Amino acid sequence: TKFQSVGLLVGVTGIVGNSLAEILPLSDTPGGPWKVYGVARRPCPSWNVDHPIHYIQCDVSDSQQTRDKLSELNDITHIFYVTWINKPTEAENCDVNGRMLRNVLEAVIPNAPNLQHICLQTGRKHYVGSFELLGKIQPHEPPYHEDLPRLNLPCFYYTQEDILLEEVQKKEGLTWSVHRPSVIFGFSPYSLMNIVGSLCAYAAICKYEGMPLRFPGSRAVWEGFWDVSDADLIAEHEIWAAVDPFAKNEAYNCSNGDVFKWKDLWEVLVEKFELENGGFNGESRLTTGEMMKDKGPVWDEIVRENGLVPTKLEEIGGWWFVDATLGIIDSSLDSMNKSKEHGFLGFRNSKTSFSSWIDKMKSYRFVP
Ligand code: NAD
Repeated sequence: TKFQSVGLLVGVTGIVGNSLAEILPLSDTPGGPWKVYGVARRPCPSWNVDHPIHYIQCDVSDSQQTRDKLSELNDITHIFYVTWINKPTEAENCDVNGRMLRNVLEAVIPNAPNLQHICLQTGRKHYVGSFELLGKIQPHEPPYHEDLPRLNLPCFYYTQEDILLEEVQKKEGLTWSVHRPSVIFGFSPYSLMNIVGSLCAYAAICKYEGMPLRFPGSRAVWEGFWDVSDADLIAEHEIWAAVDPFAKNEAYNCSNGDVFKWKDLWEVLVEKFELENGGFNGESRLTTGEMMKDKGPVWDEIVRENGLVPTKLEEIGGWWFVDATLGIIDSSLDSMNKSKEHGFLGFRNSKTSFSSWIDKMKSYRFVP
């Protein structure tokens, strides 16, 4: 095949990386046919091997290794940067996540003469601040739009945007885009933040123990309006920005374009795992961190009995993320106007999206 575009996907086993690895090689993907290089830190996992991509194991926080492995890929035309590392403080996050991005850009930009565009995926913390500061600062008021000023505090997304804008100057005509999703619904057992996978593990444990499925969150989240971002939709949004001239050199929100209530999604989870709906538990807040803390051996038993792909509960259940996300007390919505005005009309039905990612977790045998 003669390739039209060559993508470097940094974070190929992540929640959006996996969607990009599936969508980019398809014959009808804009900008295609695509050749795809996919980078991640660990060896290629079994659930990723079927994607027709060139898998490269590389730790991009190591500048020497990044230079050794990525500088020789001189046919790259587009970079999709969909990775991050989580550290205890935001100062450390700024440092390591900034360095990772810079390592990749410094290895590729001088060595890929046909490089055209760089997509950087950040997120909603751009408007509400880091996890560390959640509840401690005054975030912007929703609906968030792209022109809001930065908050006056450290956030690794700001560090990354600054590095991106500095690096693109180094090659004439090189363009960029920034993508800011809400909470992501997608598939990856390796993601640091996978709310669908985590909730599936929680539901499986409730089922095993004969418990009703109680909602581990606040009233505001149970009853309020919410938006999320489907991982395949984010991939489509990033591919759009990579190839469409009207999308270039801008930051965009990237959400499904509808609203829902968690109490309605909860019904879906209840049905998929054939549970009793425990609903919202009043103001005495339940947390998955508390409820799941001794359940490692229970999970091992569930994995064994059902012949699931072996995982540890702490890998599949991101309790800190579930609790931070479902525990917020304000509504959190963005506006997709800017994307539409620039020509991106994609959307997802969030309830259908939730349901289909649960099915994928089940069909790949990560949950019963
Ligand atoms: P992820 O955690 O799902 O996946 C990260 C990927 O990067 C994995 O493939 C992992 O193996 C790889 N990786 C990690 N460290 C690496 C290293 N040192 N070298 C090479 N590869 C490495 O990622 P994600 O959730 O898509 O995160 C990308 C961005 O999206 C982050 O800025 C994140 O904050 C943001 N975001 C995520 C969510 C969500 O719900 N997951 C929501 C909004 C915004």
